[in-house]
Amino acid sequence: MVLDIDFLKQIAFSVFDVVNPLLGTKEAAKKNKRGAGGDLSMEIDLIAEKIIIDSLKKADANLLLISEELGEKYLGDKDIAKKSQTILIVDPLDGSNNAVRGVPYCSVSIALAIGDSIRDIDKAVVLNLNTKDLYWAEKGRGAYFNDLPISVSDLEITEKCFFELNLPMKKIMKSLQELSPIIRRFYRIRILGSSALTLCQIAKGSMEAFINLRPSNRLVDVAAGMLILKEAGGKIFSVDGTEIDHELSINIKFPFIASNSKLETFLKEEFVKKKSQ
Ligand SMILES: [Mg+2]
Repeated sequence: MVLDIDFLKQIAFSVFDVVNPLLGTKEAAKKNKRGAGGDLSMEIDLIAEKIIIDSLKKADANLLLISEELGEKYLGDKDIAKKSQTILIVDPLDGSNNAVRGVPYCSVSIALAIGDSIRDIDKAVVLNLNTKDLYWAEKGRGAYFNDLPISVSDLEITEKCFFELNLPMKKIMKSLQELSPIIRRFYRIRILGSSALTLCQIAKGSMEAFINLRPSNRLVDVAAGMLILKEAGGKIFSVDGTEIDHELSINIKFPFIASNSKLETFLKEEFVKKKSQ
């Protein structure tokens, strides 16, 4: 079985077929046990993850699966998986709260790495589970929205920039105050609820930046979106302006800043200033 981009797309569409009719229903909202990612799993999260596992098993895939609900698990032949360094990083449903409440902004996120760190991510798909729009990328080959190549916008901070701002609720007023020199420069703020999908909005040029300062932000949420954004010419970096690279593990969580290339310098400079205050 070749784990090519078409196979990853197929998995995402299988998730869509089952999950889309459940969005906003009572069945979706049934509470379950706490997932490995730390959030309370809901029925719809587990249904989405099961479809992914079943698809991988059916295809006799040999890999390490890192997924929000189950954590880390080898599928198929562990030795082959280890030798080939094949790792699939999955959020079966990003934006679960939106999904159960019927807010139309959630996605399935799948990233394939050959190697054990973020920089080894080679293929990525993010499927909007409401609209069935597909974002995808292969390293060095660009990013796509359905069949069309995409790239980030070229808006500068002086133009009408759309930002997503996601802050920890704890001390939110203090954070807003600290961020005010940056926030004042935004044209509009959107807080949408699926990090995977918002990274793709920037990749497509529909938004300009995403400041996500929640320390609980998980690798599984952003692994695919990061590659799609980078392949579309976007930037993603840590709050101290450095490159984000971590080992691939269910326990990895980090805040981040993502943007089109025009806003990179502005955001890095502002965050460095903020840190030195
Ligand atoms: Mg999830």
